[in-house]
Amino acid sequence: MRIVCLSDTHCEQHGFKIPDGDVLVHAGDFCSMGVEREVHKVAKWLKALPHRRKIVVAGNHDRFFEQQSEMARAYLEPDIIYLQDSGCEIEGLRFWGSPWQPWFYDWAFNLPRKGIKLREKWNLIPMDTDVLITHCPPYGILDEVRTRMTAWGPTEEGSGPLGCEELAIRLAAVRPRLHVFGHIHDSYGVLQRGDTTFVNASVCNEDYAPVNPVWIVDLEPGGQPVVSATLPGKRRRRKAKASDPGV
Ligand SMILES: [Zn+2]
Repeated sequence: MRIVCLSDTHCEQHGFKIPDGDVLVHAGDFCSMGVEREVHKVAKWLKALPHRRKIVVAGNHDRFFEQQSEMARAYLEPDIIYLQDSGCEIEGLRFWGSPWQPWFYDWAFNLPRKGIKLREKWNLIPMDTDVLITHCPPYGILDEVRTRMTAWGPTEEGSGPLGCEELAIRLAAVRPRLHVFGHIHDSYGVLQRGDTTFVNASVCNEDYAPVNPVWIVDLEPGGQPVVSATLPGKRRRRKAKASDPGV
């Protein structure tokens, strides 16, 4: 099965190439401000893609899914599978999706860091999950926000590993074969650790430019994931928007 993985498109969905595949996985932050108008546009784009199955989780920018959950889901379903602490099975592979993250500015799907509520959400992930899709990374894995340069020199503010400690604990027990996430644009990449292939699929960089290639993962039931990258998106910059703080 060919799984095409992307995340953090932030309304820049027409800025990069998406290869065909069996399953498209979007790990959240398809919106910029998270308003209904954006969800409508993104849903139209997703529905027009050729993939046989499409799975989406929400991210911290996709506020409409937190505020008006039923209306938001109606834009996607039934053509697109929306996972929120829920799962599905496709041709023998078990997928699970969840949008939560440790509190991050004042965005959607926040829960207190290292808190019982996050632990409860992650404890819902079934032990037999093959492909886990979350918006946020686990702590210590492709979750590093780089030091920023400012007019006054480098600043450490807001930098460092921002992944979820509680999710890392749960992953040690579940050990999915593939974990797809985004959220920390700086740490786009792939990492193999233990039984799990981790994919940070943020196609937008920290300036919200769609410059990173979409990931392709070939995975068969009982097999190991084989990861390759597609062509890079169009390298271009755009002006910062008021909605830009945070990732
Ligand atoms: Zn993002």
